[in-house]
Amino acid sequence: MINIERPMLAEINCQYLKGVGPRMAVKLAKLGIYSGQDILFHLPFRYEDRSHLTPIRQLQPSQSALIEAEIINTSIIRKHRVSMICQVKDSTGYLNLRFFHFSNAQRQHWLTGKKVRCYGEVRLSNQGLEMIHPEYQIGTEADFPPLAQTLTPVYPTTEGIGQTAWRQLTDQVLSLLAQERQLQELLPAELLQQLKFPTLKQALQYVHRPPLNVSLVDLKKANHPCQQRLAFEELLAHQLSLQVLRATLQQHAAPALLDFKQFKVKLLENLPFKLTRAQERVVKEIMNDLEKPVPMLRLVQGDVGSGKTVVAAMAVLQAISAGYQAAVMAPTELLAEQHLKNFKQWLEPLGIKIAWLTSQIKGKARTEILTAIATNEVQVIIGTHALFQKEVVFSQLALIVVDEQHRFGVHQRLALKEKGVLDGLVPHQLIMTATPIPRTLAMCAYADLDQSVINELPPGRKPVTTVIIDNNRREEVIKRIQVVCQSGRQVYWVCTLIEESEVLQCQAAEKTYENLTQALPELRIALIHGRLKAKEKEVIMQAFKKGDYHLLVATTVIEVGVDVPNASLMIIENAERLGLAQLHQLRGRVGRGEEASHCVLLFQMPLSHNAKERLAIMKQTNDGFLIAQKDLELRGPGEVLGTKQTGEIDFQVADLLRDQNLLPQVQQIAKVLTAKHAAIVKPLIQRWLGKAQCYGQV
Ligand code: ADP
Ligand code: MG
Repeated sequence: MINIERPMLAEINCQYLKGVGPRMAVKLAKLGIYSGQDILFHLPFRYEDRSHLTPIRQLQPSQSALIEAEIINTSIIRKHRVSMICQVKDSTGYLNLRFFHFSNAQRQHWLTGKKVRCYGEVRLSNQGLEMIHPEYQIGTEADFPPLAQTLTPVYPTTEGIGQTAWRQLTDQVLSLLAQERQLQELLPAELLQQLKFPTLKQALQYVHRPPLNVSLVDLKKANHPCQQRLAFEELLAHQLSLQVLRATLQQHAAPALLDFKQFKVKLLENLPFKLTRAQERVVKEIMNDLEKPVPMLRLVQGDVGSGKTVVAAMAVLQAISAGYQAAVMAPTELLAEQHLKNFKQWLEPLGIKIAWLTSQIKGKARTEILTAIATNEVQVIIGTHALFQKEVVFSQLALIVVDEQHRFGVHQRLALKEKGVLDGLVPHQLIMTATPIPRTLAMCAYADLDQSVINELPPGRKPVTTVIIDNNRREEVIKRIQVVCQSGRQVYWVCTLIEESEVLQCQAAEKTYENLTQALPELRIALIHGRLKAKEKEVIMQAFKKGDYHLLVATTVIEVGVDVPNASLMIIENAERLGLAQLHQLRGRVGRGEEASHCVLLFQMPLSHNAKERLAIMKQTNDGFLIAQKDLELRGPGEVLGTKQTGEIDFQVADLLRDQNLLPQVQQIAKVLTAKHAAIVKPLIQRWLGKAQCYGQV
């Protein structure tokens, strides 16, 4: 057992540090920094080398360097923008320093004959080499401090706290750190030994003040044991916080849903297909969870079209056959409707009643539905997040199925438990992701959940052939539509726009619709977009499914939930603007029937290197997990999980992409710590995530 004593640095209020007055304290608090320890864990995000002076003649464009020189002339130039140019020289050459922002007082300092030391990036201008807005100090040689003995850290900051202030603050806490018992090493010694990690003290000293013999390039790669150790500890703290969250939820009891099978057997008999082996396996994993009196917390992943819906239906049936209710929640109305259709088709023949609830349903209809839910007249409730408003009271809710488009925050997951059945029991939770998530990312972001993967597609699926075509060959593509439709097949045309505005998206779709109607007069063409009423969309989709239209022009609303096996061609406009996951999801709408299907990615020149690479990946593979991995590499975890705005998976040192290799070990060691060193879990979370309120409270 490690003895947890309150170490000094955690107790020191920032205000007692030199240079921190009440105003500075407020600014620090904005960054979540209150104690000496918090400052110690505010880590640099890059470094500079200010350890030696570079002779002017050796300067290269785009290099950052420290120079010392003599001021020879200062003048104000009024070409284009007003700027102040200071010409300086050392024994090897001349250099211009250029300032766009300067005060008269500042100008007075630049006296000919004085010495200046400055650090900045060198650029090539028409007048030769120059530095724009370097950091500088003017004086005599004796005024300049000794050259840096370590690499110089650059800290993330907020307005009003400069880098000099950060360096002074960290200098103070680092010198405290050098003393005994200032900071508690939380990782057990045998673990450090096993992983060959340095001590926390060494690691922090290293990242705040890296020695001069390390290259900036290596530092950036962050594979030094000191950096790895901190990344490891941060990931570990994150992992533990999710485990704590899970444990908190699982302290509650859940109804044990004994599996009476009768409904499941009937459903399987009625289905026009057999479950794949992967579906069977996942159904079994869920079944085992549901039979236990602890709330299930399980994530089901599977590629687009792998058949997650029917797996969810099997779980729902288990809840119902035990006499309870189940709720199915989808991120969009369209997707919720698709679930409604499937569930009606599958469950109503078994005598099960299904309710539909969205924010669109109002007045008397709403009251009636709410009453039916509260009195157990309906067993399955399908809808959008409207399901979880306060006014919705379930009579016997035992299972919640959440179809996620983007990662559903931990907050929301906690809120769901409020919707429990009576007598203090909370419902089981089944989370399904709309698109696959790379394994390492799932390991980290969904550490509070057990995971099931449907790693097999139903038999007979033909991979979609993808081609990438320049928009200036649009005519050819339109001709191709004609041929496909004449052979009895149907086509999607997906319009995308960079603007977030739905109005603009719809306008673009309307325009394309008009153009295509003119170009293809003999085809029946429909238009669907997000501004249509749910009912209107439904009518159009049904008609398209029945074959009443050849071509469906759509915005990305069709991304989810549409199933038309006869559609065998999809054209996606401005494909370069979409993320890989979204393209994959869209493309998954074709290739659902017997025919070989095609997807045309139309792009607009010029293409960035990154966009080129993304399109090439779409052409190379149909494997959603592989695509997700590439998406992670090209766009980062925030985009892939949809947490960019919420910042939920933001790390200080760790980088999910770079540090993927650490994750399996992090996961394993988090378990060991919880079992054997429970006392350090809380301080570890506090140290790294103390700022994030949500974790602090659980
Ligand atoms: P997703 O995993 O993308 O949500 P769906 O649940 O919508 O996939 O299933 C895609 C299609 O495959 C649906 O039409 C569904 O009925 C069908 N399907 C599901 N499982 C099987 C299976 N085992 N064999 C054949 N078709 C299946
Ligand atoms: Mg689905």
